[in-house]
Amino acid sequence: MERYYSYSRFLKERFGEKVYKISINGGFTCPNRDGTLSTGGCIFCSEGGSGEYSESALLPVSRQIALGREQSSRKYSGGRYIAYFQAFTNTYAPVERLRALYEAAIAPEEIVAVAIGTRPDCLPEEVLDLLEEINRQKPVFLEMGLQTCHDSTAAFLNRGYETRVFTEAANTCASRGIRTTAHLILGLPGETPDMLAETIAYVNALPVSGVKLSMLHILKNTRLADIYAQEPFPLFTLESYVDCVISCLEMLRPDMVVERITGDGPRDLLIAPTWSLHKRQVLNSIHQEMKRRNSFQGKQWKK
Ligand code: SF4
Repeated sequence: MERYYSYSRFLKERFGEKVYKISINGGFTCPNRDGTLSTGGCIFCSEGGSGEYSESALLPVSRQIALGREQSSRKYSGGRYIAYFQAFTNTYAPVERLRALYEAAIAPEEIVAVAIGTRPDCLPEEVLDLLEEINRQKPVFLEMGLQTCHDSTAAFLNRGYETRVFTEAANTCASRGIRTTAHLILGLPGETPDMLAETIAYVNALPVSGVKLSMLHILKNTRLADIYAQEPFPLFTLESYVDCVISCLEMLRPDMVVERITGDGPRDLLIAPTWSLHKRQVLNSIHQEMKRRNSFQGKQWKK
């Protein structure tokens, strides 16, 4: 029995088979790094802007897709892929440059959708028009970093936008038929279980289709690493993380696709928690504990 609505199930339902994601680097930056909003970025963000698993931005998109296919062939025998613009803010560029990148990404027949990671404050009208147009050709899955619904925590994180901006972006995307996913970080300093429950309730109430859950990672060369070095704060143990993820899943709307339930901190940058490197063990622990508790997504959800 599957106890939550996994991303692999969603992809099978949508595309009829397992689909593999290929990470693309479009050579973007971020307004929270280039001085438009700030130069420091979100305090947890690595120098690569979460693009550590992508190819070089110097390579054309078609070449990056070919390399991604080659690399995936050891673990994936299917022939359909999602092009995933992952590093930094992938809607933050003039619309003609975005068009060239997105069109190159969806051109190969084997690419069945394009996933685009961005910020909710980087979706001007002309970009939304373009996303809607691309979405008519192949599905667009837009991923937006939220982390928390609490503006006080967001200010500590230097997120650079207020939560109302996310609300507006989620509603606008839904009205244009663009599927959205919210990225959430569990275990943020100063956040209580009640505050996390409020973030889950906030996302539940929006027309958002998926969530990505991750533990807070302390990565080298980040502002968060400096704060942690000066004044260490409590981080999850494997057991406390499993407990927290399960309570989030229980509060989550049953139709919400759970696209990630553990983190992907790059090995060479990760300071803590190092147990998160054992991804298979984290997933097994969550699954076993859900079974033991007879827990399932939406168990505590109230419409
Ligand atoms: S918005 Fe994303 S890319 Fe920009 S600083 Fe924050 S985490 Fe990094």
